[in-house]
Amino acid sequence: METDRSRQLAAAIDAVRSAAELCAAAQGRLVAGDTLTKGDDSPVTVADFAAQAVVAAVLTERLGALDLVGEEAAADLADDAQATLRDGVVGLVNAQLGRDASASTVLDWIGIGGADGTTDAYWTLDPIDGTKGFLRGDQYAIALALIERGEVVLGVLGCPNLPNPDGSRGAVFAADADGCRAYAGADEPVDVRVARPDDLADVRFCESVESGHSDHGQSARIAERLGITAEPYRIDSQCKYAAVARGDASIYLRLPTRADYREKIWDHAAGKFVVERAGGVVTDVTGAPLDFGHGRRFERNRGVIATDGRFHDEVVAAVLAELDGV
Ligand code: AMP
Ligand code: MG
Repeated sequence: METDRSRQLAAAIDAVRSAAELCAAAQGRLVAGDTLTKGDDSPVTVADFAAQAVVAAVLTERLGALDLVGEEAAADLADDAQATLRDGVVGLVNAQLGRDASASTVLDWIGIGGADGTTDAYWTLDPIDGTKGFLRGDQYAIALALIERGEVVLGVLGCPNLPNPDGSRGAVFAADADGCRAYAGADEPVDVRVARPDDLADVRFCESVESGHSDHGQSARIAERLGITAEPYRIDSQCKYAAVARGDASIYLRLPTRADYREKIWDHAAGKFVVERAGGVVTDVTGAPLDFGHGRRFERNRGVIATDGRFHDEVVAAVLAELDGV
């Protein structure tokens, strides 16, 4: 019998797949004028907006009206000064969906993502997580999650460039109450489980490529405290969560670089759930659970530690000792 949850999961996988196709087609083909710098100094491209429109259109057409907390704002495209960018977005969306939607319809789809994350049930979307990686030709992710009463209950992570063990690239990770599965190419999905090396010295940790997003000096000192000798695996976006979930790495460290930065819920919801359903553990740097009950940002958490679960307490203790300077 098809349950609400299985309908939601199927729609979420299709939405993420469609957005991932759009992004893969656009990456490397962006031209001057396809990118904008937002108020917080972060880049956004035509593909970020278009991917949000596609996910919102697919989800609402399949599931009806819903609350969506999306990273991008339709208002950033509404001004006539952004006509070229807006045309680019509309072109990408129509090419992907095989439609002839007007600019106002596309802006409406993007605008569905304007929810504030205060309702009992809402979706959260990062249409391109790791936009800097996307622009560099590296890793990025499409991250979609459903949150009910403050708990993530479903997460889908599209990683179009992630290298797979068999040499191919690209996978979609889908997590629900039953566990976590990865879809690569046309193959049947495979179960995803964390790897748990016996010895802390044998583990590998991953972190942001961008030192402005996570403190590299601090992570090197924490690795030394833990006896980890392997070089850090630096990879953009929530692909870090995917790497921990399937055992490419055992630890993901995201260490605050600024006292006033609050992590965004769309940067973590899907990835956190993928790791947990694969058998891992995710907390903030103090070991507290991520608290999705405060709108678009984590007001009560700092940073993130995701691990395969075996040495989580040791990693939290080493991070706290480093942050305390002891
Ligand atoms: P990553 O690819 O893991 O480095 O993360 C990319 C995300 O970092 C973006 O989606 C931003 O929302 C987020 N970000 C931007 N500035 C900061 C910051 N100062 N600290 C932590 N994350 C940030
Ligand atoms: Mg992001």
